Amino acid sequence: ETAELENVPPEFVEYLRAEGIEELYPPQAEAVEAGVTAGENVVASVPTASGKTLIAQLGMLSTIERGGRALYIVPLRALASEKKAEFEAFEDFGVSVGVSTGNYEASGEWLAEKDIVVATSEKVDSLVRNGAPWIEDVDCVVSDEVHLIDDASRGPTLEVTLAKLRQLNPSLQTVALSATVGNADEIADWLDADLVDSTWRPIDLKKGVHYGDALHLDDGTQRELPTRKNEKQTAAIVRDTLEDGGSSLVFVNSRRNAEAAAERLADTVEPSLSPEEKAELREIAAEIRDVSDTETSDDLADCVERGGAFHHAGLAAEHRSLVEDAFRDRLLKVVSATPTLAAGVNTPSRRVIVRDWRRYDGTAGGMQPLDVLEVHQMMGRAGRPGRDPYGEAVLLAKSHEELDELFDRYVYADPEPVRSKLAAEPALRTHVLATIASGFARSREELLGFLSETLHASQADDPERLEQVADNVIEYLERNEFIEREGEGELSATGLGHTVSRLYLDPMSAAEIVDGLRDIEDGEKPTAMGLYHLVARTPDMYELYLKSGDREEYTEVAYERENEFLGAMPSEFEDVRFEDWLSALKTAEMLEDWAEEIDEDRITAKYGVGPGDVRGKTDTAEWLLNAAEQLAAELDLGVSPSIREARKRVEDGIKEELLELAGVRNVGRKRARRLFDAGIENRADLREADKSVVLGALRGRRKTAETVLENAGRQDPSLEGVNADKSAEAAAA
Ligand code: ADP
Repeated sequence: ETAELENVPPEFVEYLRAEGIEELYPPQAEAVEAGVTAGENVVASVPTASGKTLIAQLGMLSTIERGGRALYIVPLRALASEKKAEFEAFEDFGVSVGVSTGNYEASGEWLAEKDIVVATSEKVDSLVRNGAPWIEDVDCVVSDEVHLIDDASRGPTLEVTLAKLRQLNPSLQTVALSATVGNADEIADWLDADLVDSTWRPIDLKKGVHYGDALHLDDGTQRELPTRKNEKQTAAIVRDTLEDGGSSLVFVNSRRNAEAAAERLADTVEPSLSPEEKAELREIAAEIRDVSDTETSDDLADCVERGGAFHHAGLAAEHRSLVEDAFRDRLLKVVSATPTLAAGVNTPSRRVIVRDWRRYDGTAGGMQPLDVLEVHQMMGRAGRPGRDPYGEAVLLAKSHEELDELFDRYVYADPEPVRSKLAAEPALRTHVLATIASGFARSREELLGFLSETLHASQADDPERLEQVADNVIEYLERNEFIEREGEGELSATGLGHTVSRLYLDPMSAAEIVDGLRDIEDGEKPTAMGLYHLVARTPDMYELYLKSGDREEYTEVAYERENEFLGAMPSEFEDVRFEDWLSALKTAEMLEDWAEEIDEDRITAKYGVGPGDVRGKTDTAEWLLNAAEQLAAELDLGVSPSIREARKRVEDGIKEELLELAGVRNVGRKRARRLFDAGIENRADLREADKSVVLGALRGRRKTAETVLENAGRQDPSLEGVNADKSAEAAAA
């Protein structure tokens, strides 16, 4: 019983009771047995939605009760605010909560005041790199979704971060939460932790495969679930769920498929909506349209009005949360999603349909089956405790052979073991440099010593391989002047190396940028395109893929603009490098279009991406250009002003001539353009212009115009009695 919990604030027990939690779930009770409230290390490998968060809370709050501080590491930025909101309930009994995402550089002094800090592993890593002193005062660290250590791109950061935190504070309590994986015992061994390994779930989960007119379930039973004439399997299952008063979550393998499926499934849902539901959905659709003025936004709103929605990483964050909330409120009856939704966002549903179990994989070539772990996590979203009698997760088979295959591959199969991905060079490059720059390791010996404390070392059957890769990396970093070797294997970072580590760049990105910048002749001014291409071809920028026909088109552009590129263009015969160059060119052209004030809508259509992608790319470019500016300063290259200009243009999406106007607060790309077209070209013009012209250019919006005038430093910004100049309005339109 929760009333018997020791070492936690008594108010927490009351809080749990108010949440309807009187008794611990069995895995939670096991975690208490294992000493989670007594400062012991615990690894909990428990199915999705089975109360892992409470185990973390017990660890954190008992630590705080003893006067300590806690750090909660989330796998996704989107989850940080969700977790923070959840923990803020503890503020009622004096526990303060802070969230640290955003800016990689800030050392976050203010966080030192907080009892609980929520952050992504990248953020924690950067705080360690920047020597944030309070990091050493953390007494309890929680690692949520620790199985993501297996993820090639982000896993190594989590692994290294946990190893560093544990080295900084040998008495640190580590609580690691994992989906059910086969080798949770190895993670527990690595972390010197007790293991809670459970398959218990609060609500029954039936897994199965739909084939023909029946649902075949893992308990050996079958249920009739016929498809109507011309009806797809997914639609039939969604309809069946609706008839039973439930909702469905459909996982598909691409954004485009998510959008297409939502569109079609809304046809299935619409007839069953009540007039009240329709009215509420129309309101949500209006909010969605308000977020942004794009085709995706419109398509999403159209679906939502009819009771369906799509969800993928190309959506704006506001769109995503509107969809998640409406689905949790049961207003939306079906959501089709890419797997991002399975990773942590709490959106249970009566039925989960895993429609696509293969995904296009460029590196492996062609369609590849999803991991068992990933499919199980999607399936785990089925069933809302206390709301549904049970959850049901369904795969779809087209043939009898496929029915058998899916049972073997996913329904009866165990998830893959978690394996460290640290030995991959890109990961080691970054982390070895950071480990040396932050003084964690001052020699090759110390570096190898630190690496031996990682999960990788504890899993490796060939310890010499890690040593070998580490030596390659040391050599690479030395060759690029990021580190220096002195005397007896002593290692230290150069000024450049410190800058790279502090900027959180992949050293390979930094090397590419440094080479490109050094290629600029004295007194020459690089073009925005040249700089955008330079940052677009670093490994820190995800390039846009080339579609059919793109190769020819961008090859032409590449030759036309060859003299703008910084660094030599690879020859067409170097297939892979040339292709990469063209992908970067496509990305750079998108950045340039944005900075040339092309409408967002036209950009998303031209490049076949969502508005979220345009934002994502411009944000990354802004960050990399900022890094380039600092590298240029570090190397005394006189190109910082050009880089700054290119950065500001991509930040605001404006041509050069608007730079000054857009520097005035509350003036974005659209307002700056309207003012400029009405003859107001800079701050001074704003201070002296005819007020009616300003008001006209800002479409008669008085409050906005007054704020803008005030921000431009105008003495008397009041617009009382001023009428908008219609010709300015017309000029701007
Ligand atoms: P996980 O992190 O394992 O995916 P959560 O921690 O989000 O799962 O828990 C899922 C739901 O179960 C939450 O709504 C939570 O409030 C509820 N819950 C957790 N523990 C208990 C409990 N002991 N009794 C009743 N409900 C619980």
